[in-house]
Amino acid sequence: MIFAILSDIHGNMEALEAVFKHAERHPIDRFLCLGDIVGYGANPKECLNRIKSFEDIVCAGNHDHAVTELTDTSYFNPYARKAVHWTISQLDEEDIAYINSLPYIYEEDTFYTVHANLAKPELWGYIFDDFDASTNFFIMKKNICFIGHSHVPLAFEKKEDIIKPHYGAEKILIDENCKYIVNVGSVGQPRDGDPRASYCIMDTEAKTIVWHRVIYDVAKAQKKIINAGLPSFLADRLAMGR
Ligand code: ZN
Repeated sequence: MIFAILSDIHGNMEALEAVFKHAERHPIDRFLCLGDIVGYGANPKECLNRIKSFEDIVCAGNHDHAVTELTDTSYFNPYARKAVHWTISQLDEEDIAYINSLPYIYEEDTFYTVHANLAKPELWGYIFDDFDASTNFFIMKKNICFIGHSHVPLAFEKKEDIIKPHYGAEKILIDENCKYIVNVGSVGQPRDGDPRASYCIMDTEAKTIVWHRVIYDVAKAQKKIINAGLPSFLADRLAMGR
């Protein structure tokens, strides 16, 4: 089975379409989305419709819940908060109902998908380091946990009691005696200094997880953000990958 795993699209249709086009080159059986479909970018509705067309597994992110007022936004920075208000004005009741129907966690035999972490998914805590990873590993009964949220592609590998981070990881060979937390990076707003869209492909036969980086029309996405009256910082950061 070959899975494509996407996260943090953030209303960036140019990046999302580029990722789908890239994924067409692979025999993908199923698409999984880890949330934050909306927020920041200028095409929240279009991205929601495109993600819905997967008819597959989609988890909720904090920005999705921010626009349906299921989560507190007092900790959001002013740019994010402005984007939340603008995004609400673009969505209808059906969109809100769809977002509210998304689960926090999805699980299969060998893996979980969740936006932020398994322990308290509704509190949206980040997994940045070995310590954060250890609490997540503690409750993992399965081999792999796919996450997003920080917009930084990376992985943590746990073998016996040793946790090894893989910053800037490009490929993992899955060892069934290990556990993995895999951050697939962000489609629509990467923050690792590389502006290209990020997503992962897992091949369960070959036992591989590969990160892919995809060039997309950043200038077009930036122009839409400016034309929508969203903060220009949200356009600038796309080119920086920050
Ligand atoms: Zn996000």
